[in-house]
Amino acid sequence: MPNIRKVGVLTSGGDAPGMNAAVRAVVRGCLYHGIEVVGIRRGYKGMIAGDFIPMSTKDVANIIQRGGTILGTARSMEFKTEEGRKKAYNALQNEGIDACVVIGGDGSFTGAGIFSKEYDIPFIGIPGTIDNDLYGTDYTIGYDTALNTVVEAVDRIRDTASSHERLFFIEVMGRGAGFIALHSGIATGAEAMLIPEIDHQEEGLHAYLKRQDKKSNIILVAEGCKMGGAAEIAERVKEDFKDHDVRVNVLGHMQRGGSPSAFDRFLASRLGVAAVDALLDNQRSIMVGFVNHDIVHVPFNKTIKFNRNLNRILLEVADILSY
Ligand code: ADP
Repeated sequence: MPNIRKVGVLTSGGDAPGMNAAVRAVVRGCLYHGIEVVGIRRGYKGMIAGDFIPMSTKDVANIIQRGGTILGTARSMEFKTEEGRKKAYNALQNEGIDACVVIGGDGSFTGAGIFSKEYDIPFIGIPGTIDNDLYGTDYTIGYDTALNTVVEAVDRIRDTASSHERLFFIEVMGRGAGFIALHSGIATGAEAMLIPEIDHQEEGLHAYLKRQDKKSNIILVAEGCKMGGAAEIAERVKEDFKDHDVRVNVLGHMQRGGSPSAFDRFLASRLGVAAVDALLDNQRSIMVGFVNHDIVHVPFNKTIKFNRNLNRILLEVADILSY
């Protein structure tokens, strides 16, 4: 067993519901094995500043149900520089931290991988992002909650859309990936989903709107859509369909907040425990992932290098269901 006496845990990059549940699991996993654990506040920014806080089992009581992250999160340009990482190393050394668990996305894992090559401090990653766009895991922490938030919001918009016979373009998050748009679209019965992974969807949308006479429709637009944002696409559609009452709704940051779903709490709990197990198993520079409901280890360089692909069958399902 490696000689790990103190672990640092941090949340980094974009926040996601369920990050607290993961912090809790890492803290309790460490304490269970007799390892001290400190929280690192505000991601790599706090690591550089030595913003550490000792964590006891009580400190993580009552947080499993809370959205956001009690440790705070940030983006740090300084950590991208050798000088910044040297400062971070010195701060970790001063505190006696000999391993870290970082909860975040591919940017956070990139930083962790670089740092671990420069300094002999193992890092384990836990996938935390609402976008579900990380290679090597079926789910990321926060995705299920965000999906449910979108579904609830779209259902509400659908009520008013159908009462007034309006055509709504609803923009959802997901960065360069269409997971949230595609899955919530199927779950809400949206008439179309415009996603970054597919080209030339606008022709198909126009053809769809022409061939059916219903005026109330919900079109979900992923924020990374190559055709532009919901507002831009809606402007173009208005030109061609003057008799449609076109409206736009950008769901925005409400998608990031809220109490994590049962699935995200469960996932975060399992991944947090698995991250500590991985450290005890002498692993480093890997992400713990969840594939076919089981824990997997994925090297950082793989999860950073490869893109997670959409299941193309779902596109056909969406087409069939909006026929
Ligand atoms: P996410 O982890 O959600 O993808 P970011 O891409 O913002 O979020 O990355 C989080 C942080 O990880 C950055 O603010 C930076 O401190 C660190 N990071 C990202 N890329 C690198 C890199 N190439 N080198 C060092 N650190 C990096």
